[in-house]
Amino acid sequence: MSGKENLHPSHREAVKSEIEERVEKLEALLVGKGLVDPAALEELVHTYEHRIGPRNGAHAVAKAWTDPAYRRRLLADGTAALQELGYGGRQGEHMQIVENTETIHNLVVCTLCSCYPWPVLGLPPAWYKSSAYRARAVREPRSVLEEFGVQLGEEVNIRVWDSTAEIRYLVLPQRPPDTELLDEQQLSALVTRDSMIGVALVEAP
Ligand code: FE
Repeated sequence: MSGKENLHPSHREAVKSEIEERVEKLEALLVGKGLVDPAALEELVHTYEHRIGPRNGAHAVAKAWTDPAYRRRLLADGTAALQELGYGGRQGEHMQIVENTETIHNLVVCTLCSCYPWPVLGLPPAWYKSSAYRARAVREPRSVLEEFGVQLGEEVNIRVWDSTAEIRYLVLPQRPPDTELLDEQQLSALVTRDSMIGVALVEAP
């Protein structure tokens, strides 16, 4: 393997932080004492990572695709427009929505730690918190995107947004072609968590 850390899913074994080791020990203790069912815990984490959380963001994206007035409100004041749908609160107090176009692709990172818009995306994936992603998303976003399977043309500029405790970003991905006949709910089902972080494009069904 080359000098740089590879972000491909099969290579994302990040070095464990002190807090992660503490959590693992706590979890082992709770499971050992029979207080926690590991399968139930896994299911809970999976649900917040992939289902409940990102579905909120997907709802807002699909609404923006189908309702031009909502799209304008979402881009003008993300926090207020998300609140209209009932999405707000901790870790989502100051939201900015960044829109992908034919010539601009947005990518979200938190270089310092793992700031992430919980109300619209749920729990951050492990790779988002890895030192490799946090460093390389800024230094070489195009290579990072390629490792996630996203090939952008030369004409597309990549904008990298560094999340902080003050402001969180959500990518408004491009609506895929040939989806004119789909309604908001059907469109929402196409929108993935990764597309709203900016490491994936939304694919046509
Ligand atoms: Fe952070």
